[in-house]
This record gives sequence, C-alpha cells and structure tokens, in this order.
Amino acid sequence: MSYISIILNLILGARTIKGAVTVSIIFFILFIIYTSLQAYTYRNTARHLEKIQQEKKELQAANKKLAGELKKIKQNMKKTSQQSPNKKVAYLTFDDGPSSNTSAILSILDHYKIKATFFVIGNQSERGKHMYKRIVAEGHAIGLHSYSHEYRTIYVSPTAFHQDFNQIRELVYQLTGQKPNIIRFPGGSNNHISRKYGGKNLMHTLIQQMTREGYRYFDWNVDSRDAERVTQSRDIIIQSVLQGSKNKQKTIILLHDSQVKTTTVEALPAIIEGLRKQGFSFDVLTDQSFTYHFAPSS
Ligand SMILES: [Zn+2]
Repeated sequence: MSYISIILNLILGARTIKGAVTVSIIFFILFIIYTSLQAYTYRNTARHLEKIQQEKKELQAANKKLAGELKKIKQNMKKTSQQSPNKKVAYLTFDDGPSSNTSAILSILDHYKIKATFFVIGNQSERGKHMYKRIVAEGHAIGLHSYSHEYRTIYVSPTAFHQDFNQIRELVYQLTGQKPNIIRFPGGSNNHISRKYGGKNLMHTLIQQMTREGYRYFDWNVDSRDAERVTQSRDIIIQSVLQGSKNKQKTIILLHDSQVKTTTVEALPAIIEGLRKQGFSFDVLTDQSFTYHFAPSS
C-alpha cells in the first residue's frame, strides 16, 4: 500500500468533514515541510559538490605547479652535480675508435654501469658502423676526432682540416642522427706535429674557428700512456691512470680504442675499480661539463 492510499484512507475515513479537512491540512503542511527539507538538502548538496569541484581544480593547479617546481629542482641538482667542485668525477675518453676492441670496451663499461666518451674517427667497415650506433645507443657520449687522423692531411691548412672534419661529422650524423659539439684535436690542442705541415699558427687558428662554430674541445689531464708504444704494458696503463688521478677532483683520462691497444681493454676493469676506490664517480663530457685545455705551445 502506497503512502498516497494511506493518506486517502485517513481523509476518507474521517468521521466529519471538519475532521477530513484537518487531516488534509496536516498532511499538506507535512508535505510542504517535507519538500522544503528536500529542496534544502539538494541545494546544500549542490553547493557542496560545487565546492568539491572547485577544490579539485585548485588541487590540480597546485599539483601542476609542484610538478613544474620538481622538474626545476631536478634540473638544478643535475647542474649542481655537474659543476660541484668538490665531487670527484672521472671522464674516461677513448680516442681513435671504433675498432675491433670497441665491443669489449662497451661490455666492460656496461658491466660497471658507467658511461664514457668516445672521440671517433672514420671507420666504414660494417662492424665499425655498428659500433658508432652502439656507442650512442648505450648512453655514451660521442665526440669528433677527425676522419683520417692523418696529421699530414688534416694539419696542412684550416681548409684541409675542415674538409676532413666534415667527413666524420657527416658519417656520425648519418649513422646515429647525432651532431656532436664536443671534439678532440688529433695529438691534442698544443701538438707540435701540425707546425711541420701547417705552420706555427695553425692550431691557434683551428681552435678559434672551431670554437666560433660552436664546438668545445677537450685535451686531457691524465695520460694512460697507452700510446707510448704499440702495445703498452697493462700495469703501466693502470698505474699511469691511478697515479695521475690522485689528488685531482676532475680527471679527463686519455685512452685509446684501436686494434693494437688490447692492453688498454685489459687494464680497464682495474682502472675503473681503482678510481672508484679513490672516490671517483664517472660521467660523460658535454658542452657544459668540466673541460681541460693545454696551455698553447709557444
Ligand atoms: Zn687520436
């Protein structure tokens, strides 16, 4: 039985008309009170809902703002860690690759979960082409060294240098899609060999031109001495790096990635472990990182 029929029964069941009217009025009043209460509750709920939605919007905006600030903090932390003068950072650099040793070097770096910098030259063998791609894919930095690495070709004149340099730049770009802006001059920025071919001022001119073109060049402050002879003793390489890095906060370590430098690969695990013991962490060179330049030779 519905409420309406109960009400009708009560009204019709009243013994007098006056009674029926009174019952009707009572129910009418009750009805009015009921609907008013309903309307009030509805209004309140709607207001409440509106408030919640407003708060939601405010929270979303605050969230967005916080995410933005978090991003900024992370960027700053990265910058600080890069520039922090107190943090010991070792930059392993491998010149003259890719070679038959690149794969082994990459595996060792992967084993220790560290990143290095490769200053590459031209190598169009299938394995070579694959290695440029692996260097980049595995998170290492790729820098340009020269295409031919032939002093008598590249150091004849600024034009000759640029012609050769454009070849390695193009090759790396075609294979990896990257346009590196970090370079290392073959022989270093103060090499004397270039004088024989291009004259006394050649290196000065090249440094100025390359810097103007947006390149940052890197010499080294630790020499592994793996280039002193065709195949250097593994122990000399390890000792040269570890001794040379002592008392330094930032070390740019010269190593070579070429077919005959097998002992460099053999020395690498001990170099990494020894540097870790000295408190070094490892990073890649970038246009923002620490750099080291030789004093111009006179
Ligand atoms: Zn070289």
